[in-house]
Amino acid sequence: MSANTIRKAKKLVESGGVVKIEEDLFQIKSSSDPEKSYFVTSDTCECPGFKNFYKFHHGKGLKANCSHLEAIRIFKENPD
Ligand SMILES: [Zn+2]
Repeated sequence: MSANTIRKAKKLVESGGVVKIEEDLFQIKSSSDPEKSYFVTSDTCECPGFKNFYKFHHGKGLKANCSHLEAIRIFKENPD
């Protein structure tokens, strides 16, 4: 995963862009469009980056990632 993805993810968490809705359901603001937000679980995301990952890396056995999934990971490590 790129350093840029991690930087974006940290920014999302620090700016309060991650809201926990249920045990494994989060709403995360889009970093490119503040009017937009995505529903994200610990391994799926609605954002175009996540969907495109499988388009571009289809069949390679890789697990998709995006700044939102990474943001959840950081959010869980830093509960406050
Ligand atoms: Zn995403």
